[in-house]
Amino acid sequence: MKAVPGGKVVVLDPGHNGGNASHAAEINRLVPAGRGRSKPCNTTGTATGNGYAEHAFTWDLAMRVRDALTARGVKVVLTRPDNTGVGPCVDRRAAIGNDSGADAVVSLHADGSTTAGAHGFHIAYSAPPLNDAQGEPSLRLARSLRDGMVAAGLATSTYIGKQGLSPRDDLGGLNLSTRPAALVECGNMRDPAEAAVLSSAAGRQRYADAIANGVLGYLG
Ligand SMILES: [Zn+2]
Repeated sequence: MKAVPGGKVVVLDPGHNGGNASHAAEINRLVPAGRGRSKPCNTTGTATGNGYAEHAFTWDLAMRVRDALTARGVKVVLTRPDNTGVGPCVDRRAAIGNDSGADAVVSLHADGSTTAGAHGFHIAYSAPPLNDAQGEPSLRLARSLRDGMVAAGLATSTYIGKQGLSPRDDLGGLNLSTRPAALVECGNMRDPAEAAVLSSAAGRQRYADAIANGVLGYLG
């Protein structure tokens, strides 16, 4: 791999949080979500059929991506310190990325579609862009993440977006970002085969390495 230029900062944003489900009022309060809209502060996320929660998945994945990036000299900032808290709200998560001056902001999620056979990953990015960072840089970040995941043999989504990319105007964290930002939906936790991979440490390491490679490709 190419050497990563020094001084790069990456914000990792693990979706949801372990305390969200027991703090409904706090989580459901409306916050600014960009484009003049409001959205709930945060949501509980989905889970596999066996009860493995998305917040646990995104947290574990973030730790693995962090380790892969820090090993390459990248400074990593997280939007939450653990998986036992509440929130933060989507507007606060965006602010953490903006205030850090991140070279890239990557939100980590998994989906919960009940459509039979729906599986595969997709990368969401803000479109139409609301600032320069949401334009070419964010699209290039999304493409690099997609390419890293395809190179790892991960399947692109069968049910959202095209070729693993999904332009979105309704995701608060992306709308409010003033840094290059993308959101990775790693797979469908309701698909039994994909759920088995997402639930395994080896599977998560595979996703983490692919995402780290995508980030490094963008930074390089
Ligand atoms: Zn999610």
